[in-house]
Amino acid sequence: MPKHTPSPLNPRSPLVLDTRELPRRPGALRTVKRMVPAPADLGVELIGVPEGADLDLDLRLESVSEGVLVSGTVSGPVRGECGRCLREINDSVVVRIQELYAYENSTTDTTTDEDEVGRMQGDLIDLEPALRDAVVLTLPTNPRCREDCPGLCPECGVHWDELPADHSHQQIDPRWAGLSQLTRKEE
Ligand SMILES: [Zn+2]
Ligand SMILES: [Zn+2]
Repeated sequence: MPKHTPSPLNPRSPLVLDTRELPRRPGALRTVKRMVPAPADLGVELIGVPEGADLDLDLRLESVSEGVLVSGTVSGPVRGECGRCLREINDSVVVRIQELYAYENSTTDTTTDEDEVGRMQGDLIDLEPALRDAVVLTLPTNPRCREDCPGLCPECGVHWDELPADHSHQQIDPRWAGLSQLTRKEE
């Protein structure tokens, strides 16, 4: 298979990590703490990080023999919709990242698949794919406004929280409908 050449990374892009300051000596460490705007479509169908929201990167970059190990957390706000009652959800998410990025032309680079181990481009690391994977794995596919959300009455669409405990839509047999009107008149 021909080697896939990714488009060049922009060192100024918010989710591109520059490792120029990190010596290529196993054990060398740098921390990256910064706030960056969230990219578009970071999340799943019903819940996700709004585009442009503050993402808080708290990462550790460690030189290993064939590349850089990135670990730490990324946190940010999430907004979505309850899968049961459609109420708005405002929450936050913290995702853990642990990903190895191989140096170009290292043994790892030449002997592994890009799906298994990330790749560096020169001194640059593109954090976005790993971040997307981590966010998708962390967010619930079926979010709830609260754990025990009872949802909506299927008959009238009103939230069960706003209905009396004995709420029901009992079908009155048409043969008795006249009788029930009669009783009402007597009341
Ligand atoms: Zn709900
Ligand atoms: Zn109802």
